[in-house]
Amino acid sequence: MAKPSKMQTDALLQLKHVVIDQMVTMNYWEEERIHPLHDIPLAVLRKNATQRHGVTRFRRGANASELKTEDVETIDLHPHLLHEDWNDYARFVLYHEYLHALGNRFHDATFRKLESHWPFSGSQRGREFTQFLRKRSATWLWVCTTCNKKYPRKRRSNGRFRCRACSTTLVDVANIQETN
Ligand SMILES: [Zn+2]
Ligand SMILES: [Zn+2]
Repeated sequence: MAKPSKMQTDALLQLKHVVIDQMVTMNYWEEERIHPLHDIPLAVLRKNATQRHGVTRFRRGANASELKTEDVETIDLHPHLLHEDWNDYARFVLYHEYLHALGNRFHDATFRKLESHWPFSGSQRGREFTQFLRKRSATWLWVCTTCNKKYPRKRRSNGRFRCRACSTTLVDVANIQETN
C-alpha cells in the first residue's frame, strides 16, 4: 500500500460516491447493508504493481469464515486507474472490491452473478488495463518482422517464441520508456 496524494485522495472519494450511488440505484442492495462501505479507507497500490488492479485487505485476526464489512482495513486500487482514461474500469474494479468487502471472499458463481449486476462487464477493459501495465513495465518488445505485431515483455525472447498471428520467429527490441 502507498499513501495517496491529495489528488489521488480526491479521485478516490469521488469514485466511492459514484460507485455507492450506482449500487443504490441497482434496486438490489439494501441501504443499511451498503452503508458501512462509506467508512472503508481507500488507498493506492504501488505504482509498479502489475498483477493486481485492486485489493481488499481485511484486518489481521478477522474471522475468515464470517467476514464483515467492518473488518476491512483498506481497499487499494492501482494508481493508474485514477487517470481519466480508466474511469469506467476504475468504477467496475471498486464495485468488485466492494463485493469482497460485503463478505464475498471468493470469485465463485455467486460472486460472478453479483458482479454481473454492474451496468457493464469489466472483462474487456480489464484485459486492456493489464496490457497497458505490461507495456509500461516491459524492458523488451518481442517484435514480429512480418506483421509488425509487438509483444511487451520483461525478458528477452532469445529466438524461442513465434508470432501468434503469423508464426514468424520474434526478435528482441529494447523498449524505451517515457518517464511519467
Ligand atoms: Zn476479486
Ligand atoms: Zn506476425
